Amino acid sequence: MSTRITPLQVYKLLPGTNCKKCGTTCMGFAMKLINRQARIEDCPLLTSDPKYAGKLAELTKLLAPLISASETLVNIDLDKCIGCGNCVIACPANVVLDTRAGKGLNPLSDEVLWLVEDGKIKVLHLEKCRRYPPHRMNCNVCELVCYSEAIKVVA
Ligand code: SF4
Ligand code: SF4
Ligand code: SF4
Repeated sequence: MSTRITPLQVYKLLPGTNCKKCGTTCMGFAMKLINRQARIEDCPLLTSDPKYAGKLAELTKLLAPLISASETLVNIDLDKCIGCGNCVIACPANVVLDTRAGKGLNPLSDEVLWLVEDGKIKVLHLEKCRRYPPHRMNCNVCELVCYSEAIKVVA
């Protein structure tokens, strides 16, 4: 499965102010996002100004398959996610990164792989998944506990 996302697609979902708070222009940032050299959170306008909430949601959805599939083969379908949080509290890497997850609570740390926000899973650091180097574990706990079938782990 391949997901081809163009810089223009990403650019259209950015604020378009060229304020350079991310260290480059909006188009430069779009390229960086596609190349996984930046994270959505690196654009402060997009993540903090409520007027961009719609664009933020669309961009998160657009980039989720690219980030997850290429790094860990953990694919997330946000349309199917109901925000139950099962994956958040069951993922062994998440539990280590925030003890709240181990207690069945939504993490507060922004160092975790993912948490629930506004009724959907929000991916922060999927690169910390244990399927990813250096661990390379054959984990699929998140897929097993997602009864909405929003998570698919590619073998
Ligand atoms: S911080 Fe956001 S709005 Fe500013 S240039 Fe970068 S991508 Fe564009
Ligand atoms: S595969 Fe395992 S470590 Fe990776 S996100 Fe899912 S539960 Fe967490
Ligand atoms: S287990 Fe599935 S439905 Fe529940 S938050 Fe995680 S991805 Fe969403």
